[in-house]
Amino acid sequence: MIYAYTENSNGKYKKSALEVVSYAKTLADFLGDSVTAITINADDSPEVLYQFGASKVLNIKNEALKAFDPKVYASIISQLADGNYLIFSHSNESTSIAPYIVKEKGAAYITNVVSVPLSTSPFRVKRNVFSGKGIAIVETSDSGVVVTVSLNSVGAKENPVSGTEENPTVNIPSDPHYKVENTELSSGKIDLKEAEIVVSAGRGMKGPENWGIIEELAEVLGAATACSKPVADIGWRPHSEHVGQTGKAIAPKLYIATGISGAIQHLAGVNSSKTIVVINNDPEAPFFKSADYGIVGDLFEIIPKLIEKLKFFNN
Ligand SMILES: Cc1cc2nc3c(=O)[nH]c(=O)nc-3n(C[C@H](O)[C@H](O)[C@H](O)COP(=O)(O)OP(=O)(O)OC[C@H]3O[C@@H](n4cnc5c(N)ncnc54)[C@H](O)[C@@H]3O)c2cc1C
Repeated sequence: MIYAYTENSNGKYKKSALEVVSYAKTLADFLGDSVTAITINADDSPEVLYQFGASKVLNIKNEALKAFDPKVYASIISQLADGNYLIFSHSNESTSIAPYIVKEKGAAYITNVVSVPLSTSPFRVKRNVFSGKGIAIVETSDSGVVVTVSLNSVGAKENPVSGTEENPTVNIPSDPHYKVENTELSSGKIDLKEAEIVVSAGRGMKGPENWGIIEELAEVLGAATACSKPVADIGWRPHSEHVGQTGKAIAPKLYIATGISGAIQHLAGVNSSKTIVVINNDPEAPFFKSADYGIVGDLFEIIPKLIEKLKFFNN
């Protein structure tokens, strides 16, 4: 049995959930096996997971699990996943759960995977290394393997099967030294890691009071907002928006970078974006070397014009 941990946000399956099920289904087809998805407090119909290849969905419904606690989630997933393969997304949530399971099961752990298996015996895959600057081919002959799949790397392919959903009961461990009582989203807007379009800004914005045009552009495009590290460090924007080597690594379809120079540490977190658009008034800004499209000019003139045009086309 191949297991996939499918994340949901407020009960709704994330896009990454479809990608991990799709990945697990490809592996299951290689091995002549089937896919069981494990999820916690999902409200969405399981149909969406059957559509991508899960023939069973184990949905643990329990109020005590509303607050995300990686140790507790790991214990629950461990109780249910008794197969040789367990597939996660390479997201913050999943990468904080997976290591506990790896330790408990003594499994091989392959993270940031960007390819379907090149072989299954031994299990061999490609993974991202050096912040996306290189690809390594790794293999393991261990019988237990835990994999995290890089977001948007293999994509989600529909592969419909008929399925069933169960609501198993599990033991919820308690730790007298540590308890997560509540968790809150840092912003109610679009999840940066999941977003297909990201509008990002840096020190070229001059100050936090100017961010209105970035938020407006993001709203018109249905995009998430991001920022460079110094901007988050000075407190102009929340740290949850910081992308790069020391921030979030993202891979949207479209990344629009405004007033960001394009330092190597910033690029490390965004260079897997499908299309990069750079707006900068310095024609020598290093970011232009990584851009698919570049606009040399003052962002305070360009962005309002862009918003005006996009609003015109949206109407
Ligand atoms: C160990 C380490 C880790 C790091 N990790 C990260 C990381 O994860 N993420 C990250 O982002 N950085 C990271 N950094 C910092 C990184 O090296 C850069 O210093 C940082 O990315 C620069 O931020 P910036 O582009 O916003 O600012 P700047 O380098 O100051 O660039 C501002 C840009 O705005 C342009 N500009 C100014 N005014 C306008 C205007 N009116 N219109 C258009 N363009 C304008 C300028 O031409 C310039 O290119 C790290 C550094 C180190 C040493």
